[in-house]
Amino acid sequence: MLRPTYKHLSKDYAPFSPYSDGGVLIYTGRLFACIDKCADDVNDWKVSMNIPQGEHLIVNGNVYTKSTNWVDRDDGMNIYIGRQKPIETASVIAVIDSGLPEEIQLSLSADIPKLMVYFQERLGKLSGVKPTLFASYAKVEDRSSQGGTLPNQIFMHWNLNDLDKKVKDTKFINQTTWFFAHEVAHLYQRSKYGALYGESNQSWLHEGNADWLAALALLDLYPKTEEYVTEKIGRFKEHCVKGLTELTLMEAADEGQFGLYYTCGLLIHRAIDHSVQKKSNGLKNIYSLWNEFRQKVEQGNEKGSETFLALVEQYTSKELVIRIKKLVETRLSNPEDTLNRLIIDK
Ligand SMILES: [Zn+2]
Repeated sequence: MLRPTYKHLSKDYAPFSPYSDGGVLIYTGRLFACIDKCADDVNDWKVSMNIPQGEHLIVNGNVYTKSTNWVDRDDGMNIYIGRQKPIETASVIAVIDSGLPEEIQLSLSADIPKLMVYFQERLGKLSGVKPTLFASYAKVEDRSSQGGTLPNQIFMHWNLNDLDKKVKDTKFINQTTWFFAHEVAHLYQRSKYGALYGESNQSWLHEGNADWLAALALLDLYPKTEEYVTEKIGRFKEHCVKGLTELTLMEAADEGQFGLYYTCGLLIHRAIDHSVQKKSNGLKNIYSLWNEFRQKVEQGNEKGSETFLALVEQYTSKELVIRIKKLVETRLSNPEDTLNRLIIDK
């Protein structure tokens, strides 16, 4: 008997996301398995698929029928199998569940390209092939939704039965736009050699950045969301303060408190952004910093927070970096005070 040993993945995406017409999105990263133990240098996975008659398979933006095979690697990717035809637009190849409420379908086809243009103007064009957007919907008794990105892929799944009602609620629409903006921002956090961020206990770097960029995009593109954004940042601060009274930010990944990387992470990036703008008299901002961070990694510097914080020091001050490190690495007696001090010279 074969006992599949699953390869450890830096992200834990669901293996299957059903579409309401019977199609399914499969995350291949969950299928990588070795007979006994996976050696560290194993990174080529031969995958072959037989495709049912009348259906097709989408791999890397290409459509196949009958059967096909390919070599998969790294964190894997999402592939679609079903009857839905992909639609190619100027910015993405889209496979949007036709069972999703019209409001969400419209938002996906209008807001995602708009957000891509917005981030592209600030962070540069994506390298490689046009990304594929997968959006699936299962009308089931549950209350979850998940989104994520992989190289050149962005995907979201809704697993709930009252989406028709929810879309009438402005707060839900704002949340969804924020969720889209966050995922789109992740697409721009890569260099031509892969992700710019490192270990999962440093996730304040990419999750915090994606959330701060989401806030900026919402305020710029959808000014009516201002109250929502302000209120959300207030809640983030409460969440971060509460979490950091119990553990350090570095420990959050192992302690099941991953949410702190979003909330505390946004506050860190907001402080950095303010400080960069102040020091450069408004000539530079968080985007200038990330563009140079990408360049540094492409020039051979290590990806992750060490390289990032060295740049933050150049763009702002040693004092800010000391404060950020204190927030990330140490157990704080008064997290609220430490957070308030992040923004130097308000
Ligand atoms: Zn994220």
